[in-house]
Amino acid sequence: MYPRPFHYHRAASLKEAATLLSQLGDDAKPLAGGQSLIPLMKLRFANPSHLVDLNFVPGAAYIKEEGGSVRFGALTRHSEIEKSGVAARVPILHDCAAGIADAQIRNRGTIGGSLAEADPSGDWAAVLLTQKTEVRCLSPRGERTVPLAGFISDAYTTLLERDELVREIVVKSPEKGSGGAYLAFKRSAPVYPTASAAVHLAMEGDICKDAAIVLGCVGLVPVKATAAEGALRGSKIDDKAVTAAMEAVRAAVDPQSDMRGSAEYKRTLAAALVKRAIAVAVRRARGERVEVSHIYA
Ligand SMILES: Cc1cc2nc3c(=O)[nH]c(=O)nc-3n(C[C@H](O)[C@H](O)[C@H](O)COP(=O)(O)OP(=O)(O)OC[C@H]3O[C@@H](n4cnc5c(N)ncnc54)[C@H](O)[C@@H]3O)c2cc1C
Repeated sequence: MYPRPFHYHRAASLKEAATLLSQLGDDAKPLAGGQSLIPLMKLRFANPSHLVDLNFVPGAAYIKEEGGSVRFGALTRHSEIEKSGVAARVPILHDCAAGIADAQIRNRGTIGGSLAEADPSGDWAAVLLTQKTEVRCLSPRGERTVPLAGFISDAYTTLLERDELVREIVVKSPEKGSGGAYLAFKRSAPVYPTASAAVHLAMEGDICKDAAIVLGCVGLVPVKATAAEGALRGSKIDDKAVTAAMEAVRAAVDPQSDMRGSAEYKRTLAAALVKRAIAVAVRRARGERVEVSHIYA
């Protein structure tokens, strides 16, 4: 189906885009990679009267390491992150970027669009919530920085005002002796995962000093598995601790039965993904180079 007619505006800067959004009113939407918005418009689930295109804004896509953080311009494509040497120093970021859909979608879709979309099945939010991540937002009223933890309030809902843009995503570089991993289970490349698990562990020898575990696709927003984190924190990462974490994950998630699987299947899957991700995270924390990819049915 064709989208309903709309007016097209090409912004020359993010500031101009925010001003246009403010002037054009409720029916205007920013367009980034279009990999969520355009399909929704074709299905006529989204019917904006005005699209403000961000794709021609110079300098809005970049990956930089600065001041102990990795910074992503909102328009940075998943494929640019996949190929980035800077992002590869935080392997969980590479795990995520390389696993999103297929090459065509990764070449268009952006990290800023992905967070702004807040799709419960999206990969970036779950991964970045295991890191110290801030979102820098821009509106005609100026800039504000919000922790990612408070940015997504519900499925497809963020705290962005209608004339506010994601400008930059700032991820604090993980401390030495820590490691993370992100694993998703998918039926095929160009579909969203059935379930996914992001794990980040700070280790001191065999003991886990700190843990962050976030599950994707098993709730309306990414699920922070606080009890599972507690089961690992201060413990040796042995079978007992991992089993306790898996049990806590099963209790934390709230999946829906759908075409990807039953709720019970997804609960079991989330726990199994966490177990595998913990094993990779421990090895990476020791400094081992471990390649992982999403798991396909
Ligand atoms: C077949 C298919 C499979 C996919 N599979 C996956 C998958 O496995 N995992 C995954 O994570 N994603 C997947 N995606 C989605 C893809 O990752 C998109 O990149 C992402 O959802 C949105 O990014 P975008 O740049 O395309 O944003 P757009 O589609 O352009 O925009 C999405 C929404 O965010 C708003 N927006 C965009 N940029 C900004 C900004 N800078 N500031 C404020 N608002 C903004 C738009 O107005 C719109 O409401 C898939 C998409 C398709 C079509």
